[in-house]
Amino acid sequence: MKSILPLITALCLSPLVLLCAAEGPKIETVDVVVVAKGSSACSLYYEPGAPKSVRLAAEEIQRVIRLATGVSLPVVTEATPLMICLGDCAAARAAGIGVEAMADESFQIITHNHAVFIVGKDTGDGRTTSRGGLSKGTLFGAYAFLERVVGARWIMPGELGEIIPHHDRLVVPPMNIREAPSFSSRQLELSDPPVVRQWALRNRVGTQPGDAGALWVDSSHSWNERLPQAIRDSHPDWAAVNPYPEKPNYKFCTRNAEAVSAFTKSLCQEVGTDQSRYMISASPSDGQSFCHCDRCKAFITLNAHGKESTTRNLLDFYNAVVRVVAQSHPDRMIGALVYGANEYPPAEMLKLDKHLFIEWAPLNVYGLGLYKDAYRAEFDHLAERWKRIAPNLAYSNYLHWHRSRGCAPLAPAPELMKLEFATLKKHGIHSVREAVDPNWAYAGPNNWLLARLMWNADGDVDALYCEWLTLSYGEGAEAMGLVYALIDDAFRRFKQQDEPFHYAAGQYDIDKPKIEKIYLPLLPRIHTLSQEALAKANDQRAKQRISLFVDNMKFFHRELRRAGYVRADAGYEFVLSDDEFAKFETSSSETPGSPPSWYFMRKTQPLPSYK
Ligand SMILES: [Zn+2]
Repeated sequence: MKSILPLITALCLSPLVLLCAAEGPKIETVDVVVVAKGSSACSLYYEPGAPKSVRLAAEEIQRVIRLATGVSLPVVTEATPLMICLGDCAAARAAGIGVEAMADESFQIITHNHAVFIVGKDTGDGRTTSRGGLSKGTLFGAYAFLERVVGARWIMPGELGEIIPHHDRLVVPPMNIREAPSFSSRQLELSDPPVVRQWALRNRVGTQPGDAGALWVDSSHSWNERLPQAIRDSHPDWAAVNPYPEKPNYKFCTRNAEAVSAFTKSLCQEVGTDQSRYMISASPSDGQSFCHCDRCKAFITLNAHGKESTTRNLLDFYNAVVRVVAQSHPDRMIGALVYGANEYPPAEMLKLDKHLFIEWAPLNVYGLGLYKDAYRAEFDHLAERWKRIAPNLAYSNYLHWHRSRGCAPLAPAPELMKLEFATLKKHGIHSVREAVDPNWAYAGPNNWLLARLMWNADGDVDALYCEWLTLSYGEGAEAMGLVYALIDDAFRRFKQQDEPFHYAAGQYDIDKPKIEKIYLPLLPRIHTLSQEALAKANDQRAKQRISLFVDNMKFFHRELRRAGYVRADAGYEFVLSDDEFAKFETSSSETPGSPPSWYFMRKTQPLPSYK
């Protein structure tokens, strides 16, 4: 691996990218001095009655500047000559900065007349955007300001993940920056103690609908709720003809007019009783046992890989449902998942109703499946094809995520993130959702990169990855980068050479073949490199983050030992006897100052047994 340190140094020292607006207020030509010689004449101003998100922007700027300089800027509701002015207000409008033409969630940061204006599109308290989401443009502008001017970063949740460089003197150079997100809905599916939600928001994404994103997408599995058990029991003739009786997830025949009518009636009732929801799901229950009656079979085709595709039946069903719902509720959207047996677009060009919002969830590429050549090769074409059929298009994936991972560390797979985000942006996909790993001992780079790319899909993945490694591990970054690269390379090889091509259960499990081919051969090198990283790191917090990785390896090794893959005499630092492990587990959860328990996914599903 090439040295990454020169790259990150160059990145940190490079001048801010300044974008000059063609019109609008005149940019200040000299630095705005915020803190000098231990004091400040600058205040943080917002108008009385500003939304909660704008008030939070002031709190966050105040907090971070205090940590960086030791100086606490006053928060005021009367404009002052030297100020950081937040949100849409009379002072901003007098300076020629308006929000009317701004897109949801966008913001402008401009220095003008000795002041810094951070003005974004904000939804008022208790209100939503026209697409059921929230716009927190000023707050996102505040975080962008803190990143650019202070150098703040939030690489993991909590204090251990917050990077605030020290400044004796803090100045804002002349700037005029406008930003808007690449996607209107950005969701990382994460367990969400407040500290994780806070981390996500600082990186401009949400961990649950409503946290971030001007668009609210709902395509959750819904058939069991819409047709409850009692109705299903009284209409056995509606049930799908299931050729896979070993997969019992409930499905009904979507070409049975009575079943579709009952479903639609149930959906209309729910839409009618909940006025607050912009989108409501008509997506099937989980599983792939779609109907194979004669009427349905007539529309079942084979995809490019010779596997059955039931997409046409499902899309015809969605169209039939939404046309009825739209008659009484033309202001609502229907969320519609295409996944598994329905993830390939139909060969013919269907016209989908404008009230449908399709969420494309390509099961084949879950769990680093994009490493398989044929899936990677078709990804762009499939995105393009879905976008032509479904102008309202969302995307959902489990790019890194694996089930039953037993603390097995996963690598960020930067190559796949480049492909994924460039493709989604190119085809104008509106929403991105990723299920991600909540184990911050190793998933920090994966989760941070996903968040950064959800906001800006044009981000330089290699530079961002180097930045994360260097900020996190300091002088230990190269050794830790090599650990992740080895895991990533081994996964790529496994996906291309060892795993059967077609999707099967286990594809996104850390199963026996992956343990044997990917992890067991790497354990000695992970040990050596993580010890090297610990020895090289000078900074105490960098050492803590490396120790977090090493401690997680102790959990992983315990899991491997329990499942019968290894014995406790391998001689690595992270190999503990059962007694030693019991002491370690107690000390790691009770020592004051040790990482909070959510850093580890203690309740992980165990690894599959060796036998
Ligand atoms: Zn059928």
